This record gives sequence, structure tokens and C-alpha cells, in this order.
Amino acid sequence: MSTLSPLPPGMTIGILGGGQLGRMLALAAARLGFSCHVYDPDRRSPAFAVAAARTEAAYDDTDALAAFGDAVDVVTYEFENIPAETIAFLAARVPVRPGQRSLEVAQDRLAEKSLMSELGIAVAPFAAVDRMQDVYSALARTGRPAMLKTRRLGYDGKGQCMIRQGDDPRNAWRVIGEVPSILESRVAFTREISVVLARGENGAVAAFDIAENTHRDGILHQSRVPADIGPDVAGQAVTWTRAIADALDHVGVIAVEYFHQEGSGAQPLLANEIAPRVHNTGHHTVEACRASQFEQHIRAVVGWPLADPSRHSDAVMTNLIGDDIAAWADIAADTTAALTVYGKAETRRGRKMGHVTRISPLKST
Ligand code: AMP
Repeated sequence: MSTLSPLPPGMTIGILGGGQLGRMLALAAARLGFSCHVYDPDRRSPAFAVAAARTEAAYDDTDALAAFGDAVDVVTYEFENIPAETIAFLAARVPVRPGQRSLEVAQDRLAEKSLMSELGIAVAPFAAVDRMQDVYSALARTGRPAMLKTRRLGYDGKGQCMIRQGDDPRNAWRVIGEVPSILESRVAFTREISVVLARGENGAVAAFDIAENTHRDGILHQSRVPADIGPDVAGQAVTWTRAIADALDHVGVIAVEYFHQEGSGAQPLLANEIAPRVHNTGHHTVEACRASQFEQHIRAVVGWPLADPSRHSDAVMTNLIGDDIAAWADIAADTTAALTVYGKAETRRGRKMGHVTRISPLKST
């Protein structure tokens, strides 16, 4: 383990999680002269193909974790469902960035919404639900329609169920698996936006321009920059995201998703979700910005100064989900398109297989 800060090129970054985010982080790290050691239980992890070293082991395998910790100079993670005990185990041996608090808050929707409320950030009315009986009192707070969401392990719209007028709440409770949850008011938003920013070891922050996001079947379909929002809304979203990153003493990239509501009377901006990592809505930064979110994350975790995040192009990023990837040859032949393929062994419905980014000259900021 090295205590050097900043870490010089040649050092090794450990990445927990070998999905596409880990793969793109490892590629960005290689460009700056770092080696990556990827740890994932799945032999076919996409990041293994681009890593200098791999560990294929479970997240609770303490022998494998100890050997991994000894082999790397700093550890980061590419998804937030790494068990907190895994991070605690490693943190006793080697610096882990972002730290445990970022992970713990982002793993639990109740902790996440509570922190945001404490910071004075507007969120949809919500209440904790630990047992069926709580759903009724929570509904009195949120009204209907409301969304019942599991506190843990939800992603891409999984672990969620809407309760509309006339619905039997017991059904939603069964659908989400009768586990600790939160109920929140359903927001009639105009659009969804996300702030992706990096926070360095010294507390410096660099925000990318805000992306506007559309979903299909609960999965991100497209992100475009610039978002169709005014400077006041943009400024508020960045200020709040920064406040969250500061409160967590976060080191690395963090993304916060917001609902934007237009029209009189409505609270214009409500925070929804925190991701303590690089984010799908930041992929356009590779082609459209002076430095990508992956480079920024690596810079932050090795203690380097952050790069200039400014955007030189407008961009539309489209996810290639499931069979969409079959169009790779056409996309490759399209000179206006930048194709990224994640190298997953198997194409499955709803699975993110790659993405395509189309940039155009900057029209506005
Ligand atoms: P989440 O897992 O919280 O990011 O939710 C996934 C998607 O479900 C969001 O991107 C929204 O499109 C939708 N959604 C989640 N919460 C709400 C809400 N309170 N009101 C309206 N739509 C929501």
C-alpha cells in the first residue's frame, strides 16, 4: 500500500465491480498511466478484458479481499451495491475512495432522502415503511398516486410499485417483496435531469453540464446536453449536488438525479436519487467534454487535480439495450456516431450492451 498523494503513474487502482462502468474507468486509468485490478464475482465481467489484473471472487471472501487490498494502492467502486462490510474490510488496509459514507447513504433510499432533507434540498414527500400497516399512514402523508420503493437494491425501476387511486396498497406491498421500503409522492415532472460532478481529495468540485434524460421501461434511453432548463434551475441543481458531495466528504464522481417541474405553484426542482459513482447519464462527456467523467473519477481517487469539465459540443447519448446492439454494424458505418460496446458475453432483454453518442456543434450552454 502506498501513502503517496497524489499517486504517480505506474500505481495500481483496485476497482470493485467489473461492469461497463468499471471497464470505462479502467480504460481512462490506463490513459493516465495507471494499472487496474478489477474484482468481481462473475468470470465474464466486461472490465476483466481491459484490466491488468483480475480477482474473480465473492464480495465476502476475506482471503481474496485481503490479497486484493495488498496488491493495489487505492480502491474505488463502480456500483453502489457492494456490501458495506466489504468496503470496511478493505478500508482498514488501503484508502477507499469514495468512502464508506457515500456508499451507505446511496445504498439506502431512506438514508438518501433523509440526508437530502436535512441539507434543505427539496424532495417529494416521503415516509418510511417497515410493515404493511405503515403503508396506510405513509399514504396519508404522500397522497396518491405514490411510489412504494424498496430501501435497498433497487435499480432501473426494479423494486418499485405505484399505488394509484382505488389500488389496494396490500398488492404493492406484496409486489415489492414485503421488505423495508419508502413511500413517496409521485411527481408529475416535466423532465428528468442529472448533475454529474467530481469532487477532489482537497474538496475542489468540477461539474459537467446538466443532462436531460428519458427512460423506456424504467431504463435510461437517452441523455442529451444541454438540458432544456434555465440558469436558475441549473444553478440550484449544481449547488445541491455539491452540498451532497460535501456532506458525504465524497471523493470521486457523484451523480444526482432530479425531477424538474414547470408551471406556476410547483416546486421547480426535486432531488430523486444519488449515485456515488460515474453514471450512465455522464457517458456523453467522453466525446463532448474536455475531460470525461471517467478521467475525472480516476483523477479524484488518485489525488490529482481535477481536469476542465467544459463541454465543446452538444450531444445525444443513446443506450443500446438488449437486441439494440445487433445494429452495431450500421452504427459503426455512421460517421456521425461514436459507438461504445461493453463486451458482454450474452445479450439479454433489458441489459445495457453499449451506447452511441452523437455530437454536434455547440448551440447553447
Ligand atoms: P429511481 O430508481 O428512484 O431512479 O426511479 C426510476 C425512475 O422511476 C425515475 O427515473 C423516474 O422516471 C421514476 N420515478 C421514480 N420515483 C418517482 C416519483 N416519486 N415520481 C415520479 N416518477 C418517479
